[in-house]
Amino acid sequence: MKLKFPSLNTQILLGAFLGVAFGFGLLSLGKDSAATHSSLYVANLVGTLFIDLLKMVLIPLVFTSIAVGVANLQAHKQIHFVWISTLGFFVFSMSVAIVVGLLANHIFHPGQGLHLEMFQNAMSTFEAKQQSPADFFTKFLHGLFMNPVAALAQGEVLAVLIFALFLGIALVIGGERYKNILILLQELLEIVMQMVRWIMTIAPFGIMALLIKLVVTQDLALLSTLGKFAAVVTGSLLLHGVVVLPLILYLVTGMTPLKFWRGAREALVTAFATSSSSATLPITLRCVEHNLHVRKEIAQFVIPLGATINMDGTALYEAAAALFVANLVGIDLNLTQQLIVFFTAMFAAIGAPGIPSAGMVTMVMVLQSVGLPAEAIAILLPIDRLLDTLRTAANVEGDMIGSLVVQKLVKEGAKSHD
Ligand code: ASP
Repeated sequence: MKLKFPSLNTQILLGAFLGVAFGFGLLSLGKDSAATHSSLYVANLVGTLFIDLLKMVLIPLVFTSIAVGVANLQAHKQIHFVWISTLGFFVFSMSVAIVVGLLANHIFHPGQGLHLEMFQNAMSTFEAKQQSPADFFTKFLHGLFMNPVAALAQGEVLAVLIFALFLGIALVIGGERYKNILILLQELLEIVMQMVRWIMTIAPFGIMALLIKLVVTQDLALLSTLGKFAAVVTGSLLLHGVVVLPLILYLVTGMTPLKFWRGAREALVTAFATSSSSATLPITLRCVEHNLHVRKEIAQFVIPLGATINMDGTALYEAAAALFVANLVGIDLNLTQQLIVFFTAMFAAIGAPGIPSAGMVTMVMVLQSVGLPAEAIAILLPIDRLLDTLRTAANVEGDMIGSLVVQKLVKEGAKSHD
């Protein structure tokens, strides 16, 4: 009898499940036991290797896929429409996410009644870097345009993306004259995607290793100290990811949530395990093209852009955390202040790079915009890595749904033009 090997999808889910189970198994042996130490060493090695491999292909992938994506879009004469619907969807879905986060906080009031003295120590020893919205904006703009060679070498995803956009537009305008360069880039992109396929074969092990490490090294007891806040954030992220986003998808495209998740789960599990939208990008792109059948030129444009600027989970978290901190210090934010939180949270999410805990750094700006003590993030830091898992999964889900929505809108737009 021939044994049938489970599909990669199943292997990844199995890896995730085994990782969590194994992690708890090691915890029960004790954090200091020899078995835990050596297992953690191996898990760290395998997990880091997996992330390194993903990062290895990230920059060539963003560069070639955006340049080729833009060039191909023009061939379809729909470039403006794709641009507008992509950015429109990103702003819309992040706004909805922030509203979900704010509402949940208004209903459950996490932080009220928690004694701040409990955290006073953490706050006094923590020094937050000053980062006003104005500073942040200047730095953000400055980081957009860089020497492309330096940007490629330093792995500055946003700057690489901007240069690739320019290159794509130049290729379009040059048309026939530069067609060899376009072919070269297309072939490079295919080669990178081939590498992604190879890397995917070790994904189940990488994900298992990352989850073992997460379970063993995080202080899960801390979750209960900040239990209510963690529960509210988890609940609102789930509401956004399981109800709101799929509903938008269904209303616009008619695709059922189950069908979507079946196609998207490799990317969602990877996002959960790596806590990095950037590292997940190669897999996200593969999922939407292969499993969800988004046309190449749309996927190659929407997904890398989304991985860099569209972060529903981060936006939701930043807004919720600002209200939580306000509750902790006993301040009632008025409507105007909440509107400021709304806008700065969106801005902070757009500006956060797709790496673990990036949202924590840009959160300083959100807190300071309404006069809350930036040091308060010291309170959130210990549970940040844990909440980052779900928030990153929501970020990646938003990108994938974005590509499906844009594809549908472009199709309808084309029809109405005919
Ligand atoms: N880890 C998140 C991401 O990569 C960003 C964040 O910290 O919220 O998408």
